[in-house]
Amino acid sequence: MALMITDECINCDVCEPECPNEAISMGEDHYRIDPDRCTECVGHFDEPQCVQVCPVECIPVNPDRVESRETLMEKYLRLQRSGQAPVSGT
Ligand code: SF4
Ligand code: SF4
Repeated sequence: MALMITDECINCDVCEPECPNEAISMGEDHYRIDPDRCTECVGHFDEPQCVQVCPVECIPVNPDRVESRETLMEKYLRLQRSGQAPVSGT
């Protein structure tokens, strides 16, 4: 699944630079996650990096984007191929 940021976000700016897929950006009122770019960190890390650093735990899974690990890996590979994501260092 892709993850999402709820309106409990306090705009602390911590998660945005941690995302290996550049999926996090500032929205109208708070940060948001582009579900087309979020792989739940599959392909880069074992755990979602944004969830690890968020101080208010406002990043649940997006119920509208139920995706298997295989689908997330395909998304990761697609982002890599398109040159729209930095190459993984791991
Ligand atoms: Fe980015 Fe990973 Fe968070 Fe998805 S789970 S938004 S890929 S840091
Ligand atoms: Fe919002 Fe959490 Fe990201 Fe901070 S780390 S900007 S509170 S989602």
